[in-house]
Amino acid sequence: MSNCAIVGINWGDEGKGRMVDLLTQHYDVVVRYQGGGNAGHTVINEHGKFALHLLPSGIFRAGVVNILGNGVALDPENLWNEMQTVIAQGIALTPENLKISDRASLLLPWHRELDSLEEARLADKKYGSTKQGIAPFYSDKYQKKTVMAGELFHPEHLRAHLADLLEWKNLTLSGVYGAEPYTMERLTAWVNDYCEKIKPFICDVGAFLKNADKAGKNILFEAQLGALRDLDYGIYPYTTSSNTTAAYAPIGSGYPAAKINEVVGVVKAYSTCVGEGPFTCEWFGEEAEKLREAGNEYGAKTGRPRRVGPLDIVATRYGVETQAATNIALTKLDVLSYMEKIPVCTHYLLDGKQIDDFPFPTLLAEAKPVTEYLDGWKCDISGVRRWEDLPAAAQKYVEYVEKAIGCHIGYVSVGPERDSIILR
Ligand code: GDP
Repeated sequence: MSNCAIVGINWGDEGKGRMVDLLTQHYDVVVRYQGGGNAGHTVINEHGKFALHLLPSGIFRAGVVNILGNGVALDPENLWNEMQTVIAQGIALTPENLKISDRASLLLPWHRELDSLEEARLADKKYGSTKQGIAPFYSDKYQKKTVMAGELFHPEHLRAHLADLLEWKNLTLSGVYGAEPYTMERLTAWVNDYCEKIKPFICDVGAFLKNADKAGKNILFEAQLGALRDLDYGIYPYTTSSNTTAAYAPIGSGYPAAKINEVVGVVKAYSTCVGEGPFTCEWFGEEAEKLREAGNEYGAKTGRPRRVGPLDIVATRYGVETQAATNIALTKLDVLSYMEKIPVCTHYLLDGKQIDDFPFPTLLAEAKPVTEYLDGWKCDISGVRRWEDLPAAAQKYVEYVEKAIGCHIGYVSVGPERDSIILR
């Protein structure tokens, strides 16, 4: 038995989806344990190209059981629509290969609306939400003002519970934001149109995971976003509303007793960040435009252009430590092939002093990047599959990063396809 978590080390979009897709061959169960449908895990394999939002990236492998744990924001409408898209692309989804925790809380129809209303109220102080209702959902979950998926099996109780929540939520919707109140008819239609459809997939995933673990099955935990977006350890308040760290995986999976033997941290060979918040190593202008184009850095969910910059060693080292990573997958090395010199943000300057440690979020706005350059390799490396075939300058870059962040780089990805990977 060996359990593994695949997590983001930075701001998200590191390429976790392609790593889970690759590594599922060694695992029997894949669990998404936090976050919601605001993720955009891009997977390219023999079945085609997919942008997964809530579904675990193990759905493409026959025999793998995929689980949505209690820690996710379960949006029945978006999940059902995503399932239909994937099924239309030829992937089978059945209660045998997809299981939803009966303890997952439901993202209710008003959560998405509240997200938009609040971003509009904040105007130029907005957080840069993807408007999928994630923040209102998690705040309601922790206020105990939503329902668990398993309540769908108790219709009378569900109706009474939803009626109570409706009365409470309308106070905010119409009282605070002046929006149209919700009606029970609308909620009932939502239950019938979407919740009933996903009901066959809902079960006690805790019992399943416990038995799988006892039977010596291997479990892979899949995270959304990265360490710097973790609610508690990231760049608060420009974080997500859940814990993106590997330490949360057992809690959010449905099986809190799970042991994690390996943590694969995914790091992109340069930095990207979507949305608002401090991003110390950010590039602007033509230089940024070139990197954005080379890496096709546009959000999988929103299409928003991502902010870009060189690899940030200070932030990445912090991410490695926060995730307790035991192995690193360095992705998109091929994107840097056009550069004469490879930039690396090695330190920050804060109050005129050079610092190595990632500062408290409030201080980040004042931090300035210190950039150094390594030799470029200036040739196409996307066809390389063996470490010894990489140009010396590319090898040096990987070795430099490995030493600077303090963790072994076991995978170097040179393209989005399943086999575009170098194992070290
Ligand atoms: P995730 O949310 O962490 O899974 O990351 P995304 O899917 O949002 O972003 C990663 C993007 O980079 C996707 O479009 C992938 O297909 C692509 N990608 C992943 N690894 C590589 C790589 O090594 N090279 C290139 N060129 N693209 C990659």
